[in-house]
Amino acid sequence: MNCFETGPIRPPSEAGSYLIRLTRGCPWNKCGFCRSYRGLAFEIRDVAEVMADIDVMASIRDDLKSGKPVLDQNAYLVANALHNGGTTAFLQDGDSLAMKPDAVRRILAHLQERFPEITRITSYARSRTMASRSVADLVSYRELGLTRIHIGMESGHDPLLEIIKKGATADVHIRGGKRVVEAGIELSEYIMPGLAGRELVRGTPSTRRASSMR
Ligand code: SF4
Repeated sequence: MNCFETGPIRPPSEAGSYLIRLTRGCPWNKCGFCRSYRGLAFEIRDVAEVMADIDVMASIRDDLKSGKPVLDQNAYLVANALHNGGTTAFLQDGDSLAMKPDAVRRILAHLQERFPEITRITSYARSRTMASRSVADLVSYRELGLTRIHIGMESGHDPLLEIIKKGATADVHIRGGKRVVEAGIELSEYIMPGLAGRELVRGTPSTRRASSMR
């Protein structure tokens, strides 16, 4: 029985998408609020392995469309994507674009070849990873079908980013986000209102003390 691999999560907007796993886990894996990949060592998958997954998914799609029985244990994910139109895909896991640019390009090209009907491909990425990629690399992803990048900014306040162990400063978030926008890719940033709690919501204790002394 053929089988393809899938990761644990995707954004809510990707509930009806094909899930293509490029990496396992998150290379950072330290954010204080995140348990998505705890206990999972980060791994970048072989390009050939990911391409084989795409081939299996394409063959399941063809079998489902022609009414043949399908035994793959993850076939329901392909059926779900087809049920939702079969035109969107999401690249997993938490920082898929940490993969080398040439490898990402080969996978996107293969996805385009096997699923020409796909019109939207999105991925999670860390802003630090985006800041380390050239605009030319990101443009090449867009030309191969990558349409949107989801980044967990959480906050733009450096002391809070440090407390939650985000592994990025406001400056890194800005540089990473700007690079995505400059490449013509949609940028979806996630913010966590209230993350600071009562203690920091109106500024750090030191800034509050300073303003109360004025
Ligand atoms: S970077 Fe994202 S996936 Fe990784 S630990 Fe932080 S929130 Fe979780």
